[in-house]
Amino acid sequence: MSHDSVHSTDESAKLYSQFLAKNYSTQAITLVKGKGTRVWDAHGKAYLDFASGIAVNSVGHAHPVMVKRISEQAEKLIHVSNLYRNEPQAQLVESLSKYCGPGRFLFCNSGAEANEALLKLARLHGKKKSGVEGKCIGVVVAEKAFHGRTFGGMSATPQEKIQSGFRPLLTGFSSAPLNDIAAWDKAISATDTAAVLLETIQGEGGIFPADPVFLQQLQKICQERNVLLLIDEIQCGIGRTGKFFAYEFSGIKPDAIAMAKGLGGGFPIGAIWMAPPYDELFQPGSHGTTFGGGALAAAAALSVIEIIESENLVARVAAQSPAWHESLKNLAQKYPAIIKEIRGAGYMVGVGMNVDPLPVVAALREAGLLAVPASGIAIRLLPPLNATVAELNEAIEIFDRVLSTWKVA
Ligand SMILES: *Cc1c(COP(=O)(O)O)cnc(C)c1O
Repeated sequence: MSHDSVHSTDESAKLYSQFLAKNYSTQAITLVKGKGTRVWDAHGKAYLDFASGIAVNSVGHAHPVMVKRISEQAEKLIHVSNLYRNEPQAQLVESLSKYCGPGRFLFCNSGAEANEALLKLARLHGKKKSGVEGKCIGVVVAEKAFHGRTFGGMSATPQEKIQSGFRPLLTGFSSAPLNDIAAWDKAISATDTAAVLLETIQGEGGIFPADPVFLQQLQKICQERNVLLLIDEIQCGIGRTGKFFAYEFSGIKPDAIAMAKGLGGGFPIGAIWMAPPYDELFQPGSHGTTFGGGALAAAAALSVIEIIESENLVARVAAQSPAWHESLKNLAQKYPAIIKEIRGAGYMVGVGMNVDPLPVVAALREAGLLAVPASGIAIRLLPPLNATVAELNEAIEIFDRVLSTWKVA
């Protein structure tokens, strides 16, 4: 095996096409290195990384504090199983509880697993509420939602392209249009519904925020009918919107929260937080995962929060976003045939497109900007939380340059 980078890019392409499952339409570059908001491919070409591993690299690439904490922990203790305590997991719950309030955490390794834990919590709540196992199992989700690729996650994701080929899925799920409170009011039953589950800002669906007033009304309905309000902050949480959690804009108090993506800054970790009294529903033996909250993963997440706090990144995102959004809106005005509208909050932006986003994303990449398509209708810009104003503006310049020669079919 050669480590020469130009050689390895051709070699990687060959190995990918020969041996990797075909579930991803991987783009034709091999990334070998990252620093801050930039990544480099095997030919040495630099890109501004506004994909951030899909809202994962929250403090950019190779942040020195994160690298140091991970290497120190790797030398000390990588994994011991949840049969024993480890120090980073203890420190992590202390650190996260500042943002969530009183309650309990359960760790896992991905977003889908965090949502699985929420769905299991819903089942336990429904059992307690109705007094019968299997009676109160309803979960209401939003149309266009995305909650992951496991069977629970797919069942909670009412999208043909996600569910197709994998039915039968779990029963008990129904969906209602986001922000249409009358539809949710109708869909939520005091006897049959255990929980509602929704993203504060839909990510994969194309960046559609839940309206704060809608969330407040939804919380009221849930409280009246003893239905859990489960909030999926996997993509929009951990500072991305200019609040630590995006639901904070609405003032609601979720009964449980799912987080993952940005939490580990690139190291796989997921978690749920549960409010009292629901944090008592999981008892010994009722749930678990071998790797969840492992020492190394917890140390990585702890370093992400340490960086977010010491560099004041949540406030920085909030402060830098209005001017950036303004520039993006100017771009939308300049190219009305291509861009429909700008959606989202903070560093979770959806450029709603009037044209197919895929070729535009490819052209942006060629021009040195990585971005993420969403649902065939939007281009997501998800810079790391420590992206500078100069980098935010550079992304707009690249976008402008690419669109200035774009031929609308
Ligand atoms: C990415 C995502 C998931 C699934 O997370 P994985 O880590 O890919 O399993 C679930 N919900 C939302 C809102 C997401 O953005």
